[in-house]
Amino acid sequence: MFDRRLETQAPEVLREHQWRRFDAMARAVLAGNPFVAAKWRAAGVGSADDLRSWDDFRRLPFTRKRELVEDQAANPPFGTNLTYPLERYVRVHQTSGTSGEPIRWLETQESWEWWARCWGFVLRAAGVTPADRVFFPFSFGLFIGFWAGFEGARALGALAIPGGGQDSPTRLAWIEALGATVLVCTPSYALHLIEVARERGIDVAKYPVRVTVHAGEPGAGIPAVRARIEEGWGARAFDHAGMTEVGAYGYECAAQAGLHVNEAEFIAEVVDPGTGAPAREGELVLTNLGRVGSPAIRYRTGDRVRVADTPCACGRTFLRLPGGILGRLDDMLIVRGVNVFPAAVEGIVRRFPAVDEFQIEVFRAGELDEIRVLLEVGDEATVRLVHEALRVGLGIRLDVRAVPARSLPRYELKARRVVRR
Ligand SMILES: [Zn+2]
Repeated sequence: MFDRRLETQAPEVLREHQWRRFDAMARAVLAGNPFVAAKWRAAGVGSADDLRSWDDFRRLPFTRKRELVEDQAANPPFGTNLTYPLERYVRVHQTSGTSGEPIRWLETQESWEWWARCWGFVLRAAGVTPADRVFFPFSFGLFIGFWAGFEGARALGALAIPGGGQDSPTRLAWIEALGATVLVCTPSYALHLIEVARERGIDVAKYPVRVTVHAGEPGAGIPAVRARIEEGWGARAFDHAGMTEVGAYGYECAAQAGLHVNEAEFIAEVVDPGTGAPAREGELVLTNLGRVGSPAIRYRTGDRVRVADTPCACGRTFLRLPGGILGRLDDMLIVRGVNVFPAAVEGIVRRFPAVDEFQIEVFRAGELDEIRVLLEVGDEATVRLVHEALRVGLGIRLDVRAVPARSLPRYELKARRVVRR
């Protein structure tokens, strides 16, 4: 474990730890952060002394992405969710823009170190040690993506290898030449590298990569996707969850029984997305504790999760989310009255090794959404099998069609497999 004392702490002690840090942050943001202070004052909280209990915490307003987007549009270029003067900040990042307007985010020295620490938990839980060489096939641009993972490898004492500015064949060559033992990328890109290697007659299972760590999409938490990555790379694949707005908050342990939420660094709540009331299954709401300069407090992540009822075999007491991120609430499609999550479609399609890539086309049929599933596959028999598996798995008949090989896009970062026509 990265921090055994905290990761195995009794829940009441963990709550005290969280409260101490939250209280210190509340004092700093009320004094210096115009965005948070205005929200809290409107909710009747003018002083940190008004916050005495967890009930008071739960009465604080949620933070939604829309508010941050509007704040930045009104106060360009960085908005007002800033606790300190601009000269305190040392990094700028921007969300990927896969779900709406991009948001910029500033980091202080302390919060950037905090990101690295959070990634330390992620990498250590996946079994990464200082002896490992960690390869990041990632274009190191404005999107925070794996920048923080790169810092996390350093924090752990491993060798971090930047794989930016390279095409996929070059990246494969570097993984081999430098003897990379860990690969950190999106699940889609791990699959893409397997495909590129196969076209060149290379079997990446023979490479020294023994662990892969994935974020950016729910893929690694989907058993069929994980199996494909593990078989292709001859490695163990670990899921991880993070967002530009909140940080690197979730990771898998060796038991691989879902995502642990890092409760040493985050306060986690699960709420009914409609009412905001506490729930066992619903939307994940996060408050980060180590990014005082640009915090996310009661942030509605839009991630749909379920809370585990039993402790994890690994001994960690942190909250566990079986199945990881089950889907994005804003991704949910309603087709003939049935809720369809793209991640659920992927979980079924990826069970069929003959399918190289797929896409979900969404189009309007009258007033309703309809979807069509396009498969890169060479035979009609597989199309029929996928159609039947989707019918059984989702309870709905979908239009499933084959498309020519290499006709669908591949992704290095967040895959956009849902396309509106
Ligand atoms: Zn565990």
